[in-house]
Amino acid sequence: MNGEPHIVIIGAGIGGLTSAALLAQAGVRVTVLESSTYPGGCAGTYYHQGYRFEAGATLAGGFQPGGPHAIVGERLGIDWPVRPADPAWVVHLPGREIVLSRDRSAMLAQFPDSAPFWEEQARAADVAWKMAARALPWPPGNVAEALRLARTGLGQLPGGVSLARLAFSTVRQWLARHDLAGDPAFVRFVDSLLLISAQTTSEAANALYSATALDLPRQGVMDVAGGIGGLAQTLAETIRGFGGEVRYKHTVTGIEVEGGKATRVHTRHGRRVGETLDGDFVIANLTPWSLDGLLGDDSPARLRREVRRRAPGWGAFVLYLGVDVAQLPASLPDHHQIITGMDGPLGEGRSVFVSFSPAWDASRAPEGRRAVTVTTHTAVRPWWDLIEADPDGYAARKEQYTERLLDAIEGVIPGFRSGLTLVMPGTPVTYANWTHRHLGMVGGFPQTSLFRVRGPRTGLPNVRLVGDSIFPGQSTAGVTVGAMRVVDDVLRALPRPAERRLIVPRPREVR
Ligand SMILES: Cc1cc2nc3c(=O)[nH]c(=O)nc-3n(C[C@H](O)[C@H](O)[C@H](O)COP(=O)(O)OP(=O)(O)OC[C@H]3O[C@@H](n4cnc5c(N)ncnc54)[C@H](O)[C@@H]3O)c2cc1C
Repeated sequence: MNGEPHIVIIGAGIGGLTSAALLAQAGVRVTVLESSTYPGGCAGTYYHQGYRFEAGATLAGGFQPGGPHAIVGERLGIDWPVRPADPAWVVHLPGREIVLSRDRSAMLAQFPDSAPFWEEQARAADVAWKMAARALPWPPGNVAEALRLARTGLGQLPGGVSLARLAFSTVRQWLARHDLAGDPAFVRFVDSLLLISAQTTSEAANALYSATALDLPRQGVMDVAGGIGGLAQTLAETIRGFGGEVRYKHTVTGIEVEGGKATRVHTRHGRRVGETLDGDFVIANLTPWSLDGLLGDDSPARLRREVRRRAPGWGAFVLYLGVDVAQLPASLPDHHQIITGMDGPLGEGRSVFVSFSPAWDASRAPEGRRAVTVTTHTAVRPWWDLIEADPDGYAARKEQYTERLLDAIEGVIPGFRSGLTLVMPGTPVTYANWTHRHLGMVGGFPQTSLFRVRGPRTGLPNVRLVGDSIFPGQSTAGVTVGAMRVVDDVLRALPRPAERRLIVPRPREVR
């Protein structure tokens, strides 16, 4: 590889690893630097007292034919260690349960009037998946990208659905066109799905983006053997197999800029001063705030302005639980979303996602136990205000949230509390320590407009962002789409592009 460009990737989250693997496979020299001792970031798995806990993400979509993980797997020769989760998950609204699976019949039985809406959603999602599968530059960032899009002819939707109309609508407006906006139970149900897939609810969520966000159960979701960190482990092994490097316990402490370009990165190895690596390109699997911090005085004015002005995104309050199987109902689905009331904003304990390690995966917990990850959206600031000014108040709030979430679970799985063998809470402060994400913000930005999305550009010609801060945002599938697009962009910018062109398959492979 002598004389080959060297690309430094900061962070071994799914976005960073996917980028590195695709670049390594294209023959580019890559080095991934990861602060932690294991890969995956928010989609990592850690060990504790015989349990393997999923740190954040628990369900993975995008493995269907033409889905982002399927494309990357095919390209890299990866056999992902996944098994379908069926049902995908159960939404518990007060007084009713909606079972979500690829076959939508159980959901339609609950909301029969919504069938035409879901048919339209499915048609729009099919087109959006095709765009994603072809790493198309949606939304276009310049005239050349707009022309690339226009040449695909994908704007024409079957069945009279106008892509352009959805692109300019909120989900609430879309529901109104189907006379569904006045049905409080259906709106609450859709809002609960959007909160976890678009980071916002129907009043603000962009309809075209949400066509894919709402498609998750129809496309099928997967459990990962050994925990979701298995995706990241597989990618790390793949990178090494293609001659790339993945270094753990290497924290990047600064990016040096010369002549308007990034030239090298500085690291800390554990507690020791690390090394300095030259790089022709830097891919930062980071939030804009973290990248700005690493660039220091060399941060481009636009990036600096962005981090000053951007409102903070969501954080997560999480419980990692061990539970005795004997106290659980015999045929309990693995994944649940509990909505505790019909009023008030979702989040802060009103929407609680609960994932049990699958019964088939004995590696996840001591015998007779299951590992459980429980999450709810929370605003990040109050946690930081408390930990700095009132540590006792911080501890009390943690306790209060723990009780609130356990009560929510007890409400739908009576007896659950009596089976608890381990309870470990985590706040945005915990997340900031684990993943170095600014203020512990997770999940990227709410997807409210396709015309104001955050792309990968940073203001420095040889530095790109990847991960859930860039379009299309959160989820292992979402950051994989973002990574495919970033890699395409980087390969175009490197010398000899013709030999390393697009990393995605031709359209015939897209179903
Ligand atoms: C509670 C919760 C639940 C979720 N549930 C789901 C779900 O069920 N399904 C789903 O698909 N998605 C889910 N998500 C979202 C999904 O986990 C994320 O969108 C995705 O994993 C983010 O990937 P990323 O590429 O942005 O990297 P991140 O996960 O942000 O990882 C970045 C990595 O960079 C490293 N790093 C940061 N700074 C430095 C530095 N200076 N030097 C070296 N290394 C550094 C970090 O240690 C980390 O490993 C969930 C997220 C959370 C928080």
